[in-house]
Amino acid sequence: MSLSDTPNPLVVENFVGGSFVKSSKYLDSFDPSTGEVWAKIPDSDPTEVDDAVQHARNAFPMWSKTTAAERAKILIKIADSIEENLDKLAQAESKDQGKPVSLAKRMDIPRAALNFRAFAESICHQVNIIPEMGCMNYTVRNPVGVAALISPWNLPLYLLTFKIAPALASGNCVVCKPSEITSVTAWMLCKLIKDAGLPNGVLNMVFGTGSEAGEALINHQGVNVISFTGSTNVGRHIGQVAAKSIKKVSLELGGKNAGIVFEDADLSKVVPATIHSCFLNQGEICLCTSRVFVQRTIFDEFVQRLVKETKNLKVGPPIEDVFMGPLVSQVHLQKVRSYVEIARKDGARILCGESVDELSLPAPYQKGYFIRPTIITDLSDSSACMQEEIFGPVVCLSPFDSEEEVIERVNNVKYGLCSAIWGQKGDRLLRVAHQLHVGTVWINCWLVRSLDMPFGGMKESGIGREGTSHSLELYTEETTICYKFQ
Ligand code: NAP
Ligand code: MG
Repeated sequence: MSLSDTPNPLVVENFVGGSFVKSSKYLDSFDPSTGEVWAKIPDSDPTEVDDAVQHARNAFPMWSKTTAAERAKILIKIADSIEENLDKLAQAESKDQGKPVSLAKRMDIPRAALNFRAFAESICHQVNIIPEMGCMNYTVRNPVGVAALISPWNLPLYLLTFKIAPALASGNCVVCKPSEITSVTAWMLCKLIKDAGLPNGVLNMVFGTGSEAGEALINHQGVNVISFTGSTNVGRHIGQVAAKSIKKVSLELGGKNAGIVFEDADLSKVVPATIHSCFLNQGEICLCTSRVFVQRTIFDEFVQRLVKETKNLKVGPPIEDVFMGPLVSQVHLQKVRSYVEIARKDGARILCGESVDELSLPAPYQKGYFIRPTIITDLSDSSACMQEEIFGPVVCLSPFDSEEEVIERVNNVKYGLCSAIWGQKGDRLLRVAHQLHVGTVWINCWLVRSLDMPFGGMKESGIGREGTSHSLELYTEETTICYKFQ
């Protein structure tokens, strides 16, 4: 499975009932650093989706009756195998998505392994018997059935495995539909899963577009629960489809996350941390900061230091030692650029990056989808760049005066995914944290979270929470048993 000895272009296959199967049609998948086609992805149609759901339904009676310990044993083998294949998976993720190989090695692939390990371990420790009212009251949790798992392109293996691991651990069978833009590591995972001994049909993978394969999957009568991570608009549609047939659903959607920097923050730490939170993975993480509110007394100094350090960031081919690779696709690059243009028309100042700094790369990277990290100021809060999700390496900075003012402005967007607050006065940091309408608040840190904690968004950032206990709620149905002894 080394990338160097695979055919060019690589041909990805669906994984159904334990076998790799060719599709009747294929989509092109581009290497974002060169714009060249590097993989062919199945363009699955409703018949292929139906076949996958049938295999999952057939495998369900057997898989749901296995013990948690038996399931955990296989999931731990999968985690070990992901770790053994760290280099290959990281190279493929980088070539497919554009993120630096170093980042995929440090973040995406280890997290994919951790997803399997954490859910495997937690499933073996679920106990909930409560004696009460003269009879024994307790609950049992049973797997829901067949889960449809739909994931986006920004953290391909990381986010898909965060769905697969809890769904399998709790005894469900699954049909996955990864993003058509980044399907390769999901396909590689199927081989590892097969080798780990997962019974046939328990996990099925159909590749293809959202409008055809995705749509057929969410509408399928044989699917009982949908877990979706992606954009708010598609999430809104999936919620409506799920409501019609009363399927359980979890929606992890977009964000417009704010950073808040108080005047007592240590800028030597906060400036590099802000760069990280705005531009890691090319700004293509749903949790990236895209608005930063800085207390007016330190605003000018903060801006000057942030721009200086950002201008030094290395952007280039993701196989090299760079901070940022290319954006994931040509379409996405155009979308991100169009927001910078909107900001300019709204009278903003572009302090560095797109349209300001040169970016010249040698062949074959001239056609890659590269953009420099971009910092914008002088925008009103009503500007599209301050309200809408850009999902790229673009951040808007704005000064604030009081605690009340900044809380109001941070909350004044339709999204509610996360925020990061920086400063030293503990009482103020916690007071502000408790008033933000978001699913996660980081204080003096970003992107660190135990898998035991609930993860998710409020408002248009989604419905539901995932994490070791919260995902189990999604993938199981709970029955209360009240037993009076005779
Ligand atoms: P997207 O366009 O919503 O697509 C997500 C997935 O849904 C893809 O696999 C897509 O297939 C599929 N899809 C599209 N239409 C569908 C339909 N009608 N029925 C079923 N499936 C359908 O999102 P994206 O552009 O890939 O990812 C970026 C978005 O994800 C951003 O908004 C980001 O904030 C969000 N995100 C949220 C979180 C979170 O945890 N809250 C995490 C990461 C990303 P295709 O292959 O055709 O696109
Ligand atoms: Mg790709």
